[in-house]
Amino acid sequence: MLFTDLQIIEPILQALTREGYSKPTPIQAKAIPYILAGRDLLGCAQTGTGKTAAFAIPMLQLLSKPSAIKAGQRPIRALILTPTRELAIQIEESFKAYGSGLRLKQLVIFGGVGQQPQTAALERGIDILVATPGRLLDLMNQGYINLKDIEIFVLDEADRMLDMGFVHDVKRVITKLPGKRQTLFFSATMPNEIQSLANAILTNPEKVEVTPVSSTADTIEQSLYFVEKNDKRALLASILKDESIETALVFTRTKHGADKVVKDLVRIGIKAEAIHGNKSQNARQRALSNFKDRSTRILVATDIAARGIDVDELTHVINYELPNVPETYVHRIGRTGRAGLSGTAFSFCEYEELPYLKDIQKLIGKEIPRNTGHAFHTEFSGARPIAPKPAAQQGRQGQRPGSQQSSGRNHSGHQPRKFSGGRGN
Ligand code: AMP
Repeated sequence: MLFTDLQIIEPILQALTREGYSKPTPIQAKAIPYILAGRDLLGCAQTGTGKTAAFAIPMLQLLSKPSAIKAGQRPIRALILTPTRELAIQIEESFKAYGSGLRLKQLVIFGGVGQQPQTAALERGIDILVATPGRLLDLMNQGYINLKDIEIFVLDEADRMLDMGFVHDVKRVITKLPGKRQTLFFSATMPNEIQSLANAILTNPEKVEVTPVSSTADTIEQSLYFVEKNDKRALLASILKDESIETALVFTRTKHGADKVVKDLVRIGIKAEAIHGNKSQNARQRALSNFKDRSTRILVATDIAARGIDVDELTHVINYELPNVPETYVHRIGRTGRAGLSGTAFSFCEYEELPYLKDIQKLIGKEIPRNTGHAFHTEFSGARPIAPKPAAQQGRQGQRPGSQQSSGRNHSGHQPRKFSGGRGN
Protein backbone atom coordinates (compact mmCIF):
# COMPACT_ATOMS: atom_id res chain seq x y z
CA MET A 1 0.00 0.00 0.00
CA LEU A 2 1.18 3.50 -0.82
CA PHE A 3 0.00 6.92 0.32
CA THR A 4 -1.31 7.48 -3.20
CA ASP A 5 -3.68 4.53 -2.67
CA LEU A 6 -5.23 6.48 0.20
CA GLN A 7 -6.34 9.37 -2.01
CA ILE A 8 -4.04 11.85 -0.32
CA ILE A 9 -3.82 15.20 -2.06
CA GLU A 10 -0.66 16.22 -3.89
CA PRO A 11 0.72 18.90 -1.53
CA ILE A 12 0.58 16.45 1.38
CA LEU A 13 2.07 13.63 -0.71
CA GLN A 14 4.99 15.90 -1.55
CA ALA A 15 5.48 16.75 2.11
CA LEU A 16 5.48 13.06 3.03
CA THR A 17 8.11 12.39 0.41
CA ARG A 18 10.22 15.19 1.89
CA GLU A 19 9.82 13.55 5.30
CA GLY A 20 11.13 10.32 3.78
CA TYR A 21 7.92 8.34 4.33
CA SER A 22 7.56 5.81 1.57
CA LYS A 23 4.47 3.94 2.73
CA PRO A 24 1.81 4.25 5.41
CA THR A 25 2.27 2.44 8.71
CA PRO A 26 -0.53 -0.03 9.62
CA ILE A 27 -2.45 2.49 11.71
CA GLN A 28 -2.21 5.07 8.94
CA ALA A 29 -3.42 2.60 6.32
CA LYS A 30 -6.40 1.70 8.52
CA ALA A 31 -7.34 5.07 9.98
CA ILE A 32 -6.83 7.53 7.12
CA PRO A 33 -9.74 6.31 4.93
CA TYR A 34 -12.21 6.45 7.86
CA ILE A 35 -11.10 9.92 8.90
CA LEU A 36 -11.29 11.20 5.32
CA ALA A 37 -14.81 9.80 5.16
CA GLY A 38 -15.73 11.95 8.16
CA ARG A 39 -16.14 9.08 10.61
CA ASP A 40 -15.43 9.14 14.33
CA LEU A 41 -12.53 6.93 15.29
CA LEU A 42 -11.45 4.94 18.30
CA GLY A 43 -7.77 4.18 17.84
CA CYS A 44 -5.90 1.82 20.11
CA ALA A 45 -2.29 2.63 19.45
CA GLN A 46 0.82 3.78 21.20
CA THR A 47 3.38 6.36 20.22
CA GLY A 48 5.89 4.96 17.79
CA THR A 49 3.21 3.44 15.56
CA GLY A 50 2.88 6.54 13.39
CA LYS A 51 -0.42 7.55 15.00
CA THR A 52 0.26 11.28 14.84
CA ALA A 53 0.46 11.19 11.05
CA ALA A 54 -2.55 8.83 11.03
CA PHE A 55 -4.71 11.70 12.25
CA ALA A 56 -2.70 14.73 11.08
CA ILE A 57 -2.62 13.78 7.38
CA PRO A 58 -6.37 13.30 6.86
CA MET A 59 -7.20 16.25 9.12
CA LEU A 60 -5.02 18.54 7.04
CA GLN A 61 -6.69 17.24 3.94
CA LEU A 62 -10.20 17.78 5.32
CA LEU A 63 -9.39 21.21 6.70
CA SER A 64 -7.80 22.36 3.47
CA LYS A 65 -11.09 21.96 1.59
CA PRO A 66 -12.90 25.23 1.09
CA SER A 67 -15.08 25.55 4.18
CA ALA A 68 -18.30 27.28 5.05
CA ILE A 69 -16.37 29.78 7.11
CA LYS A 70 -16.64 33.29 5.70
CA ALA A 71 -13.58 34.85 4.12
CA GLY A 72 -11.60 36.98 6.51
CA GLN A 73 -12.51 34.88 9.54
CA ARG A 74 -10.08 32.39 10.94
CA PRO A 75 -11.78 30.49 13.72
CA ILE A 76 -10.09 27.48 15.30
CA ARG A 77 -11.43 24.50 13.37
CA ALA A 78 -9.43 21.63 14.85
CA LEU A 79 -8.31 20.89 18.38
CA ILE A 80 -5.84 18.26 19.45
CA LEU A 81 -5.65 17.67 23.20
CA THR A 82 -2.60 15.81 24.41
CA PRO A 83 -1.24 15.23 27.94
CA THR A 84 2.34 16.49 27.78
CA ARG A 85 4.14 19.48 26.42
CA GLU A 86 6.64 17.32 24.57
CA LEU A 87 3.90 15.46 22.74
CA ALA A 88 2.08 18.71 22.02
CA ILE A 89 5.19 20.21 20.46
CA GLN A 90 5.82 17.06 18.46
CA ILE A 91 2.27 17.00 17.15
CA GLU A 92 2.40 20.63 16.11
CA GLU A 93 5.70 19.97 14.33
CA SER A 94 4.04 17.10 12.47
CA PHE A 95 1.13 19.28 11.33
CA LYS A 96 3.61 21.90 10.21
CA ALA A 97 5.69 19.37 8.28
CA TYR A 98 2.85 17.49 6.55
CA GLY A 99 0.93 20.68 5.91
CA SER A 100 3.84 22.73 4.62
CA GLY A 101 2.27 22.94 1.17
CA LEU A 102 -1.11 24.10 2.51
CA ARG A 103 -2.31 27.43 3.78
CA LEU A 104 -3.40 26.26 7.20
CA LYS A 105 -1.97 27.70 10.39
CA GLN A 106 -1.30 25.72 13.52
CA LEU A 107 -0.33 26.66 17.02
CA VAL A 108 0.78 24.75 20.09
CA ILE A 109 -0.03 25.95 23.61
CA PHE A 110 1.09 24.50 26.94
CA GLY A 111 1.69 25.67 30.47
CA GLY A 112 4.89 26.42 32.32
CA VAL A 113 5.84 29.24 29.94
CA GLY A 114 4.58 32.79 29.49
CA GLN A 115 1.24 33.03 27.74
CA GLN A 116 1.87 36.21 25.79
CA PRO A 117 3.38 34.69 22.61
CA GLN A 118 0.55 32.15 22.61
CA THR A 119 -2.21 34.74 22.98
CA ALA A 120 -0.58 36.94 20.33
CA ALA A 121 -0.62 34.01 17.88
CA LEU A 122 -4.23 33.25 18.77
CA GLU A 123 -5.18 36.81 18.06
CA ARG A 124 -3.52 36.64 14.62
CA GLY A 125 -5.73 33.60 13.86
CA ILE A 126 -5.06 29.89 13.57
CA ASP A 127 -6.86 26.88 12.10
CA ILE A 128 -5.42 24.05 14.16
CA LEU A 129 -4.72 24.18 17.88
CA VAL A 130 -2.60 21.62 19.73
CA ALA A 131 -2.92 22.00 23.47
CA THR A 132 -2.37 20.50 26.88
CA PRO A 133 -5.53 20.67 29.01
CA GLY A 134 -4.48 23.13 31.73
CA ARG A 135 -3.30 25.97 29.52
CA LEU A 136 -6.21 25.44 27.15
CA LEU A 137 -8.76 25.89 29.95
CA ASP A 138 -6.84 28.83 31.28
CA LEU A 139 -6.89 30.67 27.96
CA MET A 140 -10.51 29.69 27.38
CA ASN A 141 -11.41 31.21 30.74
CA GLN A 142 -9.56 34.36 29.84
CA GLY A 143 -11.56 34.59 26.63
CA TYR A 144 -8.69 34.05 24.19
CA ILE A 145 -10.06 30.76 22.88
CA ASN A 146 -13.51 29.84 21.71
CA LEU A 147 -14.16 26.28 20.60
CA LYS A 148 -17.54 26.84 18.97
CA ASP A 149 -16.22 26.33 15.42
CA ILE A 150 -14.32 23.12 16.06
CA GLU A 151 -14.96 20.65 13.26
CA ILE A 152 -12.47 17.97 14.30
CA PHE A 153 -11.48 17.14 17.86
CA VAL A 154 -8.66 14.73 18.71
CA LEU A 155 -8.17 13.32 22.18
CA ASP A 156 -4.68 11.89 22.18
CA GLU A 157 -3.26 9.45 24.75
CA ALA A 158 -6.50 9.34 26.69
CA ASP A 159 -5.20 6.73 29.13
CA ARG A 160 -2.30 8.95 30.02
CA MET A 161 -4.66 11.85 30.60
CA LEU A 162 -6.28 9.63 33.20
CA ASP A 163 -2.95 8.65 34.77
CA MET A 164 -1.88 12.26 34.99
CA GLY A 165 -5.15 13.35 36.58
CA PHE A 166 -6.37 15.40 33.61
CA VAL A 167 -9.65 13.65 32.99
CA HIS A 168 -11.78 16.32 34.65
CA ASP A 169 -10.08 19.04 32.66
CA VAL A 170 -10.64 17.04 29.49
CA LYS A 171 -14.32 16.65 30.31
CA ARG A 172 -14.63 20.37 30.91
CA VAL A 173 -13.09 21.09 27.53
CA ILE A 174 -15.47 18.65 25.85
CA THR A 175 -18.51 20.46 27.23
CA LYS A 176 -17.41 23.54 25.26
CA LEU A 177 -17.19 21.75 21.92
CA PRO A 178 -20.01 21.88 19.40
CA GLY A 179 -22.13 18.73 19.36
CA LYS A 180 -21.72 18.37 15.62
CA ARG A 181 -18.09 17.51 15.07
CA GLN A 182 -15.79 14.68 14.11
CA THR A 183 -14.02 13.08 17.08
CA LEU A 184 -10.87 10.99 16.99
CA PHE A 185 -9.98 9.24 20.21
CA PHE A 186 -6.61 7.59 20.79
CA SER A 187 -5.48 5.53 23.73
CA ALA A 188 -2.83 2.86 24.14
CA THR A 189 -4.93 0.98 26.68
CA MET A 190 -8.66 0.92 27.39
CA PRO A 191 -9.35 0.86 31.12
CA ASN A 192 -13.08 1.10 32.01
CA GLU A 193 -13.05 4.82 32.69
CA ILE A 194 -11.48 5.50 29.31
CA GLN A 195 -13.90 3.19 27.56
CA SER A 196 -16.85 5.05 29.07
CA LEU A 197 -15.36 8.40 28.13
CA ALA A 198 -14.97 7.10 24.57
CA ASN A 199 -18.58 5.88 24.56
CA ALA A 200 -19.74 9.28 25.76
CA ILE A 201 -17.97 11.39 23.17
CA LEU A 202 -17.84 9.23 20.03
CA THR A 203 -20.69 8.70 17.61
CA ASN A 204 -20.79 5.32 15.93
CA PRO A 205 -16.99 5.15 15.76
CA GLU A 206 -14.84 2.93 13.61
CA LYS A 207 -12.38 1.04 15.74
CA VAL A 208 -8.80 0.78 14.65
CA GLU A 209 -6.31 -1.20 16.62
CA VAL A 210 -2.67 -1.87 16.05
CA THR A 211 -1.26 -4.73 18.03
CA PRO A 212 0.74 -3.59 21.02
CA VAL A 213 4.40 -3.52 20.41
CA SER A 214 6.19 -6.70 21.20
CA SER A 215 8.79 -6.99 18.54
CA THR A 216 11.96 -5.04 18.21
CA ALA A 217 13.13 -3.87 14.81
CA ASP A 218 15.76 -6.02 13.15
CA THR A 219 17.68 -2.88 12.33
CA ILE A 220 18.48 -2.37 16.02
CA GLU A 221 21.51 -4.18 17.33
CA GLN A 222 20.84 -5.06 20.95
CA SER A 223 23.30 -6.12 23.59
CA LEU A 224 23.08 -6.89 27.24
CA TYR A 225 25.69 -6.06 29.86
CA PHE A 226 25.59 -7.92 33.15
CA VAL A 227 27.10 -5.53 35.64
CA GLU A 228 27.13 -4.86 39.37
CA LYS A 229 25.01 -1.89 40.34
CA ASN A 230 28.06 -0.01 41.61
CA ASP A 231 29.92 -0.54 38.35
CA LYS A 232 27.23 0.89 36.08
CA ARG A 233 28.67 4.36 36.24
CA ALA A 234 32.13 3.20 35.18
CA LEU A 235 30.67 0.97 32.49
CA LEU A 236 28.74 3.90 31.02
CA ALA A 237 31.85 6.06 31.07
CA SER A 238 33.87 3.35 29.33
CA ILE A 239 31.24 2.94 26.62
CA LEU A 240 30.96 6.68 26.03
CA LYS A 241 34.73 7.01 25.64
CA ASP A 242 34.08 5.67 22.18
CA GLU A 243 33.71 8.91 20.26
CA SER A 244 32.03 7.18 17.36
CA ILE A 245 28.92 7.28 19.57
CA GLU A 246 27.73 10.68 18.42
CA THR A 247 24.48 10.83 20.36
CA ALA A 248 22.96 8.59 22.97
CA LEU A 249 19.70 8.65 24.83
CA VAL A 250 20.25 7.11 28.26
CA PHE A 251 17.27 5.83 30.23
CA THR A 252 16.85 5.62 33.97
CA ARG A 253 13.76 4.58 35.90
CA THR A 254 13.73 7.59 38.21
CA LYS A 255 14.22 11.34 38.03
CA HIS A 256 16.79 11.17 40.77
CA GLY A 257 18.65 8.45 38.85
CA ALA A 258 18.67 10.64 35.73
CA ASP A 259 20.18 13.58 37.62
CA LYS A 260 22.80 11.35 39.15
CA VAL A 261 23.88 9.92 35.81
CA VAL A 262 24.18 13.44 34.38
CA LYS A 263 26.27 14.57 37.32
CA ASP A 264 28.61 11.60 36.93
CA LEU A 265 29.02 12.19 33.21
CA VAL A 266 29.59 15.91 33.54
CA ARG A 267 32.21 15.23 36.20
CA ILE A 268 34.24 13.20 33.70
CA GLY A 269 33.85 15.81 30.97
CA ILE A 270 31.00 14.35 28.94
CA LYS A 271 28.33 16.87 28.03
CA ALA A 272 25.02 15.51 29.26
CA GLU A 273 21.65 16.88 30.25
CA ALA A 274 18.62 15.36 31.92
CA ILE A 275 14.99 15.59 30.90
CA HIS A 276 12.32 14.66 33.40
CA GLY A 277 9.20 15.92 35.11
CA ASN A 278 10.97 17.88 37.84
CA LYS A 279 12.65 20.16 35.34
CA SER A 280 11.01 23.38 34.32
CA GLN A 281 9.42 23.47 30.91
CA ASN A 282 12.14 25.76 29.63
CA ALA A 283 14.90 23.51 30.94
CA ARG A 284 13.31 20.50 29.28
CA GLN A 285 12.92 22.27 25.97
CA ARG A 286 16.47 23.54 26.11
CA ALA A 287 17.84 20.10 26.89
CA LEU A 288 15.87 18.59 24.05
CA SER A 289 16.89 21.16 21.48
CA ASN A 290 20.55 21.00 22.57
CA PHE A 291 20.35 17.27 22.03
CA LYS A 292 18.61 17.58 18.68
CA ASP A 293 21.17 20.02 17.35
CA ARG A 294 23.93 17.87 18.84
CA SER A 295 25.40 20.47 21.14
CA THR A 296 24.69 18.00 23.94
CA ARG A 297 25.94 14.53 23.23
CA ILE A 298 24.03 12.63 25.89
CA LEU A 299 20.43 13.07 26.98
CA VAL A 300 19.39 11.22 30.11
CA ALA A 301 15.66 10.66 30.40
CA THR A 302 12.97 8.95 32.40
CA ASP A 303 10.28 7.07 30.53
CA ILE A 304 7.48 9.54 31.14
CA ALA A 305 9.57 12.47 29.96
CA ALA A 306 10.89 10.54 26.99
CA ARG A 307 7.51 9.54 25.65
CA GLY A 308 7.17 11.77 22.67
CA ILE A 309 10.84 12.57 22.24
CA ASP A 310 11.49 12.14 18.59
CA VAL A 311 15.04 12.62 17.47
CA ASP A 312 16.03 11.91 13.91
CA GLU A 313 19.04 9.71 13.41
CA LEU A 314 19.53 8.78 17.03
CA THR A 315 22.24 6.15 16.89
CA HIS A 316 22.35 4.79 20.44
CA VAL A 317 19.95 4.04 23.23
CA ILE A 318 21.42 2.97 26.56
CA ASN A 319 19.26 1.40 29.22
CA TYR A 320 21.21 2.37 32.31
CA GLU A 321 18.40 0.75 34.22
CA LEU A 322 16.04 -1.79 32.75
CA PRO A 323 12.37 -0.80 32.71
CA ASN A 324 10.01 -2.73 34.96
CA VAL A 325 7.32 -2.73 32.27
CA PRO A 326 8.57 -4.90 29.40
CA GLU A 327 6.78 -2.95 26.64
CA THR A 328 8.79 0.07 27.73
CA TYR A 329 11.95 -1.71 26.60
CA VAL A 330 10.54 -1.96 23.10
CA HIS A 331 9.55 1.70 23.15
CA ARG A 332 12.89 2.83 24.48
CA ILE A 333 15.02 1.01 21.98
CA GLY A 334 12.59 1.94 19.19
CA ARG A 335 13.90 5.49 19.53
CA THR A 336 16.86 4.41 17.49
CA GLY A 337 16.89 2.45 14.23
CA ARG A 338 14.01 4.51 12.86
CA ALA A 339 12.96 4.73 9.26
CA GLY A 340 15.23 1.87 8.27
CA LEU A 341 18.39 3.41 9.74
CA SER A 342 20.47 1.15 11.91
CA GLY A 343 20.64 1.69 15.64
CA THR A 344 22.30 0.26 18.68
CA ALA A 345 20.78 -0.45 22.08
CA PHE A 346 22.90 -1.32 25.10
CA SER A 347 21.15 -2.56 28.23
CA PHE A 348 22.77 -2.73 31.62
CA CYS A 349 21.38 -5.37 33.93
CA GLU A 350 22.21 -5.68 37.59
CA TYR A 351 21.22 -8.61 39.73
CA GLU A 352 18.02 -7.04 40.97
CA GLU A 353 16.88 -6.40 37.42
CA LEU A 354 16.98 -10.05 36.36
CA PRO A 355 13.21 -10.45 36.73
CA TYR A 356 12.71 -7.42 34.48
CA LEU A 357 15.07 -8.94 31.95
CA LYS A 358 13.17 -12.19 32.02
CA ASP A 359 9.88 -10.35 31.29
CA ILE A 360 11.47 -8.34 28.49
CA GLN A 361 12.93 -11.42 26.82
CA LYS A 362 9.60 -13.19 27.12
CA LEU A 363 7.83 -10.25 25.46
CA ILE A 364 10.26 -9.87 22.59
CA GLY A 365 10.50 -13.63 22.19
CA LYS A 366 14.25 -13.79 22.12
CA GLU A 367 17.33 -13.50 24.24
CA ILE A 368 19.21 -10.26 24.05
CA PRO A 369 22.76 -11.11 22.98
CA ARG A 370 25.16 -10.70 25.85
CA ASN A 371 28.37 -8.74 25.78
CA THR A 372 30.61 -10.68 28.12
CA GLY A 373 33.80 -9.05 26.97
CA HIS A 374 33.49 -5.74 28.81
CA ALA A 375 35.66 -4.80 31.75
CA PHE A 376 32.82 -4.87 34.29
CA HIS A 377 31.25 -8.11 33.27
CA THR A 378 29.85 -10.20 36.05
CA GLU A 379 28.11 -13.55 36.03
CA PHE A 380 24.88 -13.91 37.93
CA SER A 381 24.45 -17.43 39.05
CA GLY A 382 22.53 -18.75 41.99
CA ALA A 383 21.12 -16.21 44.38
CA ARG A 384 23.89 -13.65 44.06
CA PRO A 385 26.78 -12.95 41.75
CA ILE A 386 29.62 -15.34 42.27
CA ALA A 387 32.17 -13.37 44.14
CA PRO A 388 35.49 -14.69 45.37
CA LYS A 389 34.66 -16.35 48.66
CA PRO A 390 36.80 -17.44 51.51
CA ALA A 391 37.12 -21.23 51.51
CA ALA A 392 34.99 -21.53 54.66
CA GLN A 393 32.10 -19.91 52.88
CA GLN A 394 32.18 -22.02 49.76
CA GLY A 395 29.18 -24.07 50.71
CA ARG A 396 26.97 -21.04 51.20
CA GLN A 397 26.05 -20.48 47.62
CA GLY A 398 24.50 -17.19 46.88
CA GLN A 399 25.41 -15.28 49.99
CA ARG A 400 28.15 -12.81 49.97
CA PRO A 401 29.78 -12.74 53.37
CA GLY A 402 30.32 -9.36 54.84
CA SER A 403 28.33 -7.57 52.17
CA GLN A 404 25.11 -5.71 52.69
CA GLN A 405 23.31 -8.48 50.99
CA SER A 406 24.83 -11.31 52.95
CA SER A 407 21.95 -11.83 55.29
CA GLY A 408 20.02 -13.72 52.68
CA ARG A 409 17.48 -10.93 52.94
CA ASN A 410 15.40 -10.73 49.88
CA HIS A 411 16.22 -7.08 49.39
CA SER A 412 14.66 -6.65 46.01
CA GLY A 413 11.37 -8.12 46.96
CA HIS A 414 11.69 -11.04 44.63
CA GLN A 415 12.73 -14.62 45.22
CA PRO A 416 16.40 -15.12 44.42
CA ARG A 417 16.57 -17.49 41.55
CA LYS A 418 18.94 -18.91 39.11
CA PHE A 419 19.06 -16.93 35.94
CA SER A 420 18.81 -19.11 32.94
CA GLY A 421 18.15 -16.59 30.22
CA GLY A 422 21.73 -15.98 29.17
CA ARG A 423 23.99 -17.94 26.94
CA GLY A 424 26.67 -18.67 29.44
CA ASN A 425 30.10 -17.35 29.08
P1 AMP B 1 4.26 8.55 16.30
O1 AMP B 1 3.69 7.19 16.59
O2 AMP B 1 3.25 9.47 15.74
O3 AMP B 1 4.99 9.11 17.49
O4 AMP B 1 5.34 8.39 15.14
C1 AMP B 1 6.52 7.70 15.34
C2 AMP B 1 7.59 8.03 14.33
O5 AMP B 1 7.32 7.46 13.06
C3 AMP B 1 7.82 9.50 14.07
O6 AMP B 1 9.23 9.70 14.09
C4 AMP B 1 7.31 9.75 12.68
O7 AMP B 1 8.03 10.77 12.05
C5 AMP B 1 7.56 8.41 12.01
N1 AMP B 1 6.61 8.06 10.95
C6 AMP B 1 5.27 8.25 10.97
N2 AMP B 1 4.71 7.77 9.84
C7 AMP B 1 5.72 7.25 9.10
C8 AMP B 1 5.76 6.59 7.82
N3 AMP B 1 4.66 6.36 7.11
N4 AMP B 1 6.97 6.19 7.38
C9 AMP B 1 8.08 6.40 8.12
N5 AMP B 1 8.11 7.01 9.33
C10 AMP B 1 6.93 7.44 9.82
